[in-house]
Amino acid sequence: MSDQATDNYIVESIFEKVETLKFAVITKVAYFAGVIHALLIPTFYLIGANELAVLNIFSTLAWFLGIHFINHQHPSLGLRVFSAEVIIHSIACCYFMGTGAGFQFYLWSISCILLVDYRMKMGHAILYSGALIITFALMYLLFASTPYPYALADYVQLIEVVNILIAGIPMIYTLALIRRIALEQRSVLAEMATKDYLTNLYNRRFAKELIYRAQKRCLANGQDICIAIGDVDHFKDINDKYGHEVGDAVLRELGMLLVTQTRPSDIVARWGGEEFIIVLPNISIETALMRIETLRYSVKNIQVDDLPEVLKISLSFGIVQWQSNDSLSTAIAKADGALYKSKYNGRDQTTVAAATSSFTQTS
Ligand code: GH3
Ligand code: MG
Ligand code: MG
Repeated sequence: MSDQATDNYIVESIFEKVETLKFAVITKVAYFAGVIHALLIPTFYLIGANELAVLNIFSTLAWFLGIHFINHQHPSLGLRVFSAEVIIHSIACCYFMGTGAGFQFYLWSISCILLVDYRMKMGHAILYSGALIITFALMYLLFASTPYPYALADYVQLIEVVNILIAGIPMIYTLALIRRIALEQRSVLAEMATKDYLTNLYNRRFAKELIYRAQKRCLANGQDICIAIGDVDHFKDINDKYGHEVGDAVLRELGMLLVTQTRPSDIVARWGGEEFIIVLPNISIETALMRIETLRYSVKNIQVDDLPEVLKISLSFGIVQWQSNDSLSTAIAKADGALYKSKYNGRDQTTVAAATSSFTQTS
């Protein structure tokens, strides 16, 4: 899979995860709404609102029908059934009882929910939501003076308060959901922007930022900083012999090993295909060499699962002490030159690039 395809895949899978979560919560709310509407059937009947009792039979059915659609892979249709139910119910209640009982507030809730249905085009969602708010306003124009005709007239204000509270829940939920999606996506995007998807090491671009910062700190404190570049020996052969998947597993294992065997202040990154960079701040070149040599030996014991034989892995390294008047690319070119020497001289060894570009070699 290419990097781009992997990124798209990750973004789609977050999207799917969020959608699944969204519909799981919406389904719960829908069950709650279904039960409330079922309870309203006898309630409306008892206060003499027979037409509303009948309407609530259909409303209850609509909520359970919507849940059925969501559970059977038609989530958008389910949302539309819910929306239609709420709109018809709100308007009918306002028509029969006036706006005093507060049933118009559900139109606000639905206008919020429509906006989080990502399958609907943004323009359409805004249009429908706007139409709902206009309908809400129309309820006042048309039915504000409609008298409440049923029993328990003293409790109308209480009903209004309860309706406002219940209608507020989906609005709070919708905004909380949007906030959660935004935060989740922000952290995933930040991770994608800094990390290499295969090894979970820093990627080249972000590593450069970290390296510049580390060098600045070392310069300010009068400390040395060293750069090592390691390249897997004959990696192509591993791919050819065991397959690309095994090659990937080797790179993953290597990444983990490099991180566990370096200091927290060291910067370890995937520099290229099978090439890694290790930047060691506040260290002399002699100590840096010792550390890289220890690393080079531990790499040989790397284990890859499910392989019939033990893989022979080795890395060649080039290492340089970063001179303060060298740019990053010059320092890296020196480390690269030393790495090339290690390859040329038989691989599985570390070469130190001297500041003057002569080489010292270990094996
Ligand atoms: P050398 O010792 O000279 O470095 O030989 P080499 O075979 O390691 O070097 P070469 O540059 O010829 O081949 C590098 C190989 O690394 C070729 C490429 O397919 C493979 N490679 C690069 N990135 C990946 C990756 O992400 N996964 C896998 N499995 N292979 C990769
Ligand atoms: Mg190689
Ligand atoms: Mg290479």
